[in-house]
Amino acid sequence: MHFRRIRLAGFKSFVDPVELRIDDGLTGVVGPNGCGKSNLLEAIRWVMGESSAKSMRGGGMEDVIFAGTDRRPARDAAHVTLHLDNSSRRAPAQFNDSDDLEVVRHIERGLGSAYRVNGRDVRQKDVQLLFADAATGAHSPALVSQGRIGAIIAAKPQDRRLLLEEAAGISGLHVRRKDAEQR
Ligand code: ATP
Ligand code: MG
Repeated sequence: MHFRRIRLAGFKSFVDPVELRIDDGLTGVVGPNGCGKSNLLEAIRWVMGESSAKSMRGGGMEDVIFAGTDRRPARDAAHVTLHLDNSSRRAPAQFNDSDDLEVVRHIERGLGSAYRVNGRDVRQKDVQLLFADAATGAHSPALVSQGRIGAIIAAKPQDRRLLLEEAAGISGLHVRRKDAEQR
C-alpha cells in the first residue's frame, strides 16, 4: 500500500485546506524552521490512529486544531484525509473492496474525533489495524520524530534496549513471558 495524497484542513498550522501529492520514491519536505514540516508528519501519524496527545506535542488531542494567530481566529475542527493506493489488495478484508482507500480523521472541539474509511464510519482500532498490517502504524519504527535520535543516543543502556526490542517487534514477548511466570 502506498500513500498517494494527503489533505489537511484546520490541522495545527495548516489552517486553510492544503493537498499534497506523494509520488513513488523518496519524498523530501524542506522549509525554514517553524514552517510546518513536523506538523505534516504528525498529521500522517494522527490519521493513522495516533492516540497520544503527548507524541503530537500537545497537552490534549484538541491541541491539533488550529489555535489562531494574531490575525486569524482559531478553528473548531480539524480534518486530515489520506489516500492510499490499495491496488496490491493488501488491506484487511473489510476494506479490501477497492483500489483506493480514503482514510479520514476529524476532530471537533468538545466532540472528540472520529474516523471514516471510504465514507463508512469505522473505529479507531480498525484504522490502527489497517496500518499495523501494512507495517506502517503510528507507532511503528518507520516513523522517527524529531529529537528521537538524540534521545536514543542519550538513553541509558536499559532504555535503549527497550527501544531496540520495540523496533524488532519482540516487546510483546516479554509481556507474555511475565504473564506466564506469574501463573
Ligand atoms: P523545525 O525546522 O524547527 O523543526 P518545523 O517545520 O518542523 O520546524 P513545526 O514544528 O511543524 O515546524 O511547526 C511549528 C509551528 O506550528 C509553530 O509556529 C506553531 O505555532 C505552529 N502550530 C503548532 N500547533 C499549532 C496549532 N494548534 N495552531 C496553530 N499553529 C500551530
Ligand atoms: Mg520540525
